[in-house]
Amino acid sequence: YDDRDGFIWMDGVMVPWREANVHVLTHALHYASSVFEGERAYNGKIFKSREHSERLKRSAQLIDFEIPYTVDEIEAAKAEVLKASGLSDAYVRAVAWRGAGEDMGVASARNPVRMAIAVWEWGAYYGDAKTKGAKLDISKWKRPSPETIPSHAKAAGLYMICTMSKHAAEAKGCSDAMMYDHRGYVAEATGANIFFVKDGEVHTPTPDCFLNGITRQTVIGMLKDRGVKVHERHIMPEELAGFEQCWLTGTAAEVTPVGQIGDYTFEVGTLTREIADSYEKLVRS
Ligand code: PMP
Repeated sequence: YDDRDGFIWMDGVMVPWREANVHVLTHALHYASSVFEGERAYNGKIFKSREHSERLKRSAQLIDFEIPYTVDEIEAAKAEVLKASGLSDAYVRAVAWRGAGEDMGVASARNPVRMAIAVWEWGAYYGDAKTKGAKLDISKWKRPSPETIPSHAKAAGLYMICTMSKHAAEAKGCSDAMMYDHRGYVAEATGANIFFVKDGEVHTPTPDCFLNGITRQTVIGMLKDRGVKVHERHIMPEELAGFEQCWLTGTAAEVTPVGQIGDYTFEVGTLTREIADSYEKLVRS
């Protein structure tokens, strides 16, 4: 991704793609002092753009730094990069971090806070699983307790176990991994929230130790508008055997059906298809 034409917004200016670099003594690289957003533009407009900018600011505050731009400034910057990319359907990555500076230790109050925004083309996150249904591994790593890490920040440090989980899953021929939480309840995938269907009603884990995704909230709204009952609750592993359908939600994943988790199988059913289609319509409307 580093060797290509184009521009990346960096600290307030547009920088040629190949020159958008940071120093190896960047604090974030050593201590994970970084937060980011994943967004998608459809027909030239970023879906729920403001919510993403607000979450980025909030994520930084949760890990103890302030992004030196207002939500309005971030909105303008994203629009500028998107326009410069010439793309109408695109993935938008905003990232903010503690840079290199006087502090090389854990504390970093004197180092500058930096920010960048890049835009590129990114098709279906799970490839053809989007239609066929994804196969998920079950990760050995658990989503951590909110007492051990600010679980609601979209912060780099929370993704270390996600990368490890996804690598293990891919080695087994799976698209992704489902993770339990620190108490053993079903939590989410490595970059997407999870939903289940049983007897026409929907069950989804309470987001009390992981990201309450913007797509998750959108899909819950869509289900409620249709009169579908949604139960946000703690889900035990043994319940997986009783669910009929399953899907993942996320900005990159959109609504992706799940066909298998470990040894449990699910049908790509009518409600899953309807929600995936409605989501597609909504983001383009
Ligand atoms: N959980 C994790 C760990 C994620 O990385 C994402 C993607 N941002 C989500 C859930 C879904 O969040 P959203 O719908 O806001 O993209």
